[in-house]
Order: sequence, then structure tokens, then C-alpha cells
Amino acid sequence: MNPFSLEGKIIIITGASSGIGQQCAISCSQMGARVVLIARNALRLQETLNKMDNRGVHVVCPLDLTDYNKVSEVISEIAKKIGPFHGLINCAGMSSINLLDFTNIDKLNQIFSTNVFSSFLLTKEVCKKGRFSKEGGAIIFISSIMGIVGDSAKSLYSMTKGALISGVKSLACELAHKKIRVNCISPGAIITPINEDLSYITDHEERKLLEQKHLLGFGETTDIANACIFLLSDAARWVTGSNLIVDGGYTAK
Ligand code: NAD
Repeated sequence: MNPFSLEGKIIIITGASSGIGQQCAISCSQMGARVVLIARNALRLQETLNKMDNRGVHVVCPLDLTDYNKVSEVISEIAKKIGPFHGLINCAGMSSINLLDFTNIDKLNQIFSTNVFSSFLLTKEVCKKGRFSKEGGAIIFISSIMGIVGDSAKSLYSMTKGALISGVKSLACELAHKKIRVNCISPGAIITPINEDLSYITDHEERKLLEQKHLLGFGETTDIANACIFLLSDAARWVTGSNLIVDGGYTAK
């Protein structure tokens, strides 16, 4: 018996077209899960699918998660077709670098819709009566170390990621009776499309400084996917309401 096996589990993963979400989909398939892949771009979701094990069993689902009515329809259909679900990784998200003077209500609405409201409302849909396995399972929100510590121009992003860390504690209390565990993962910096064009990665000096702040250097998408596998698996059966920091030591100092 492998306590980390995901054999027989149906896991929904958002942001599966790119970066961390894509790796989560690949790694979960390697651990035996059947995966529902959600992101906006159908072609890029197909590219993820092509890299997965047991390609025939997974479901590709192009969807803008901020289109809340559509999300409700689609999850209802998928639940009827292949449910019940055993896990959800809320990985879709966007970054933002804005000094206070350059923030406005539109930017606040956009980042909160993408990083907080959509994952919360998707979680609501997934947990509706009969949709989650009676055996229980796990829900993961991908937060960030920026939800715990700060950096200049990161206030919008930090607020959204901090909201996830706080929210999972109450959700964990609310869903424990259904044997649904709810946890956050807070990654440090991993170079993916979310940040590869930003100055702290493109500028050699800034990048070096940022990397040095991580005691173990930059991470890789597999570092987060492996943490997800742990939290989704029966090995984490007693872990709920927590925030697993996977940051190569960034917040250790
Ligand atoms: P990425 O840009 O490679 O992936 C983001 C994914 O989210 C893409 O698949 C995109 O299509 C999807 N997405 C965004 N808005 C969406 C919407 N409205 N509807 C559906 N899908 C949408 O970035 P990544 O690095 O893989 O980031 C994944 C998560 O990890 C994000 O929540 C990010 O904040 C978090 N994170 C990343 C890092 C990092 O350094 N890469 C660090 C900490 C936290």
C-alpha cells in the first residue's frame, strides 16, 4: 500500500494549462488519479493532456473561472458524468505588481475575482450535495508566501493570497463533518509564465537577489505538485486547516 497513491480518485485542477497547475495534472495522473483539467485555453489544456499518463480517462474543460454562471453549469454536468469528486486543486491565479498610487477599483476587482472569488465559488459548486465523495477528500488552495510576508508593489497580490490562508481555516471547520480536508500551499518563487516576463526575473541582478533570498534557490513546479499529492492522498488524512509553506527557506529568516 502506497499512502501517497491517488488511484481511484477524481481530482479537479484549475490553471492546468500552464506552470504549477500543469505539473499538478501530470503528477496526479502519474499517481493514478483521473483528472478534470480546467483553464481558459483549450489548446494549451490539450498540450497538458498529451503529457499525462492514462490520457483516455481525463476530462479537458476550457472555462473562464470568473464566468461564475458557466462554472456552475459545467461542474453540474461533469459531476453527473463522472462524479463524485475526491479532490480539488485551486491553482488558477494571476500576479500583480502595482504601487499603491497605481491601484484602482478595476485592478482590485480583477485580481480578487481571479485569485479569491472564483476559487471560492468553484469550491462551493464542487461541495454541493452529492458531488463530493462520501469517503471525503481534500481541497487545496494555492496561496503564496506573499500571503504571509510582504514586498513593495505586491499589496494587491498579497491581499488575495492572505485571504486564501485565512479562508481555508474556516472552510476546514465547516467541511470536516463531510470528511473534506481544506488546506493551503504557499509557494516561494518558481519561474513560470506568471512571472517570467517580470523585471525581478528578466533583470539579471534582481533575479540573483531574489534567488538568494530562497535558501535553496528557486523552486520547480514539481515541488508544489508533490506537496499537492501529499495533501490529496490518504497520507494527509489528519491534516486540515493548515498552510503548507514550500518556499526553499524564503520565510525561514
Ligand atoms: P501560470 O501563469 O503559469 O498559470 C496560471 C494558470 O491560471 C493558467 O493556466 C491560466 O490559464 C489560469 N487562469 C488564470 N486566470 C484564469 C481564469 N479566469 N479562468 C481560468 N483559468 C485561469 O502561473 P503559475 O506560476 O503556474 O501559478 C499558479 C498559481 O500559483 C497561481 O495562483 C499563483 O499565484 C501561485 N503562485 C505562483 C508562484 C510562482 O512563483 N510561480 C509563487 C507563489 C504562488
